[in-house]
Amino acid sequence: MAYEVLARKWRPKTFDDVVGQGHVTRTLANAIEQDRIAHAYLFIGPRGIGKTTLSRILAMALNCEQGPTTHPCGVCDNCKGIAAGADMDVVELDAASNNKVEDIHGVLDQVQFAPTHSRFKVFILDEVHMLSNAAFNALLKTLEEPPPYVKFIFATTEGDKVLPTIVSRCQRFDLRRISTGDIVRRLRFICNAEGIAVTDDALLAIARGSNGGLRDALSALDQLIAFKGTDLGEADVLAVFGLVSREALEGLAECVLKGDVPGILRTVAALDESGKDMRRLTAELLWHFRNLLVFQQAGAELARQDVTEEQLAVLEAQSALAQPQRIIEISGMLSEMEGRLRAALSVRTLVEMTLIRCARAAKTVSLDEVLRRLTALRDQTIRRLAAAAPKGPAAADAALQRAAPQPPPARPAAPQSLPRPAIAPDDLESEEDEEEALPDCDALCVGEPDQAGEGPAAPTVSAEPLKTSDGQYVDEIINHALRLFGGRVVV
Ligand SMILES: [Zn+2]
Repeated sequence: MAYEVLARKWRPKTFDDVVGQGHVTRTLANAIEQDRIAHAYLFIGPRGIGKTTLSRILAMALNCEQGPTTHPCGVCDNCKGIAAGADMDVVELDAASNNKVEDIHGVLDQVQFAPTHSRFKVFILDEVHMLSNAAFNALLKTLEEPPPYVKFIFATTEGDKVLPTIVSRCQRFDLRRISTGDIVRRLRFICNAEGIAVTDDALLAIARGSNGGLRDALSALDQLIAFKGTDLGEADVLAVFGLVSREALEGLAECVLKGDVPGILRTVAALDESGKDMRRLTAELLWHFRNLLVFQQAGAELARQDVTEEQLAVLEAQSALAQPQRIIEISGMLSEMEGRLRAALSVRTLVEMTLIRCARAAKTVSLDEVLRRLTALRDQTIRRLAAAAPKGPAAADAALQRAAPQPPPARPAAPQSLPRPAIAPDDLESEEDEEEALPDCDALCVGEPDQAGEGPAAPTVSAEPLKTSDGQYVDEIINHALRLFGGRVVV
């Protein structure tokens, strides 16, 4: 028997087999069950995601000898004929090469005749956006009121180019790109059935290279089997398609998140010297950070749709390295770089500089974080003082007042600008307020802290040191806070 490529051999035969288009298959199945079948359907979506497959399954569902049914049997003459594209009553037309008005007249001639052996006469027009305006117009009248035995199914990659008058006469379905996770699961299923030994990372690399198209992924798998046989690893896929390994990609993202500039430069140099495509690298890095943000904001369940279990574990570990706000900033910088890559004279330099900027952004501390830490310091101090004062909260307040430093006598202008001894968090809701508060701190802290003798020891903060992109700003605020509390703070 002649060899059949995987994409054809494993073409779905029922709605349940279609991958990643549940919103469409559910609606179509419901319409069949409720006997509310429209006379024209329009499937829109990128190539290789199942438009033609869905058209044939719908035709089989309508014309199966057991039907109309949501589960066409696949073994009757009608089902087999449709699956092979050789059924008299299901006319498939490639509108890209049959786009003239004469071609549509040919279709309209056939519309007049009832189906020979089936329930419906189904016309499947692929790439329907290629039809000329005259051809579209010739179709309009029949599309509005076709004979009851006629069903039209249109498929296109460019929905915007289909005339609105056509779209409004159809039920429109927008098919989605298939998620990486769904493609990997489908490839795994097929590889197991075909007896192909392949690692998860290799399947992931194929899925990454196929941009959400299952047919492209299966074609790539076919090519790899021809290249390497039935034992495939990630390195084989990377070698054939010029992709960056998952490990290298995740390592680079980790360097960015940790602010590890030497690590970034080393990785970019290694990838560039091994001939990897920097544009592709940027797109994949952006996708990684997108997944990281999804993980942080929406949790593992939603992130799992687009990644494998191994990737999920990495996302979990990396999500602790930077705040969501920072990930958004990094993604913004990478997106901006993506647009500039085409015109860049030195792509590698642009990538390096952008990733260094991203690394700096990853370690920048937000004002929210500063306020959160200051508030925590204040609350902790109040609790400690309350614990140390046996007479209750009033005594703690008094202790806190005592702990606050007194205005320094050496600076005559300063005492008038001291409305409060400590920074209340409610007073610091905006950046303007923060700036307003700073002079107070400054004024309070002129000279040495005078509580050194009373305090338990030198101020100690065990929290991770805060770095900022604009110098020691945060550290100074924290130091001011420590002085405000008389050196009594131990975090
Ligand atoms: Zn059948």
